[in-house]
Amino acid sequence: MTAVSNTYPTAALREADAAHHIHPFSDTKALNEEGSRIITHAQGVWLTDSDGNRILDGMAGLWCVQVGHGRTEIADAVHAQMSELSYYNTFFKTTHPPAVALAERLAKLAPPHLNRVFFCSSGSEANDTVFRMVRHYWDQMGKPDKKVIIGRWNGYHGSTLAGASLGGMKAMHAQGGLPVPGVHHIDQPYWFGEGHDMSPEAFGLKMARELERAIDELGEDTVGAFIAEPVQGAGGVIIPPDSYWPEVKRILNERDILFVADEVICGFGRLGEWFGSQFYGLEPDLMPIAKGLTSGYLPMGGVLVSDRVCEGLIGKGGDFNHGYTYSGHPACAAAALANLDIIESEGLVERVKTDIGPYLQERWLGLGDHPLVGEARMTGLMGALELVPSKADLHRPFKDAGVPGLLCRDISFEKGMVMRAVRDSMIISPPLVLTHEEADHLVATALATLDETHRILKRDGWLD
Ligand SMILES: *Cc1c(COP(=O)(O)O)cnc(C)c1O
Repeated sequence: MTAVSNTYPTAALREADAAHHIHPFSDTKALNEEGSRIITHAQGVWLTDSDGNRILDGMAGLWCVQVGHGRTEIADAVHAQMSELSYYNTFFKTTHPPAVALAERLAKLAPPHLNRVFFCSSGSEANDTVFRMVRHYWDQMGKPDKKVIIGRWNGYHGSTLAGASLGGMKAMHAQGGLPVPGVHHIDQPYWFGEGHDMSPEAFGLKMARELERAIDELGEDTVGAFIAEPVQGAGGVIIPPDSYWPEVKRILNERDILFVADEVICGFGRLGEWFGSQFYGLEPDLMPIAKGLTSGYLPMGGVLVSDRVCEGLIGKGGDFNHGYTYSGHPACAAAALANLDIIESEGLVERVKTDIGPYLQERWLGLGDHPLVGEARMTGLMGALELVPSKADLHRPFKDAGVPGLLCRDISFEKGMVMRAVRDSMIISPPLVLTHEEADHLVATALATLDETHRILKRDGWLD
């Protein structure tokens, strides 16, 4: 076996990493001076670094490791598939058993009106595919002017040109002149940060009606689609008020535009249903998926396509001039199938809904009592803690926004748990196999992390 393991001392690995490796979403210069943390092993919800520290993976890698780390069932399935057919394409009138089996399986799991899938290798590629499908669909329907896709500020749809453009991350747009033409952004349903002068209910309605307003302003005959995550993930686990999705549904029902539910995080059990669309009763025309599809064991994504869109895309005949060398890759499809086997046989989706979800939610929401926390929120197995300088003035952010969050993230790591900082929100999205004991440990570590962060912020004059 030739796994690249920790055969070098930590210092040597850090040095080589600093010399040759450009990290995603990082200040690589600063990181090179500090040195990367080197993860060498992982099992279940636990990571091990090159110094032998055990760290609870509160983020399931990057929102993706639903079944936990180190599942040999998936490794074995990939090994068997690679031994039989390691690669072939699906372009030229060919297919292969794993791609067929996975497409059929996904159609069974998805809402009933979604019966076909286009495969790719990531969530970003899925959203590039969405971009091209929406335009091609409307061309085929004889409405080529319906090109604009409406996204939301602070939404995340990936890092390629189309993905970053559809997303509403201003820091990403600022580099490279994004968004590309034909994308329009509306406000997000982020009540704690932007809506607290209204009730959550009223704010949810108002934000939903932003969509209606944008369609009217742009003209319905120029708008092709609206794209949104059921719950915003990378934007900070933003759970919309209960009034939001029903009102968006009303608006979409009255308008002739496509709805794209980006399920890259919410899919595969994260919210206690197979897809976030089922959780909120949404009926998307297109559903990009990735992450939990393979639990991150191999890269794979896809776009599930509704019968209605298929009629326009496929029904009239003619090529769709789009595809990836690795569309439907057999080894990745085998990993996905083995992953779905685990999710099904261990009842992980149901477990999030009725067992570990409610168990962790109750304890996580209790952290809202901490003096540093303005709001604790969680749905399914994704949660956030809003750090604030004063409980008396709950919605006032820190002056130097983002700094306390990073401090808290570093302290969490030191205490043996991965939480992610988004602005000054602390985020978790643990593997769906988290046990009750591990959930208790997670909450206890979060509490100890908050205490230590509070102590330092107080000492340094950050708090009221
Ligand atoms: C992560 C993510 C993407 C991008 O997926 P990649 O595999 O990183 O390209 C797209 N949409 C959402 C909602 C995501 O969370």
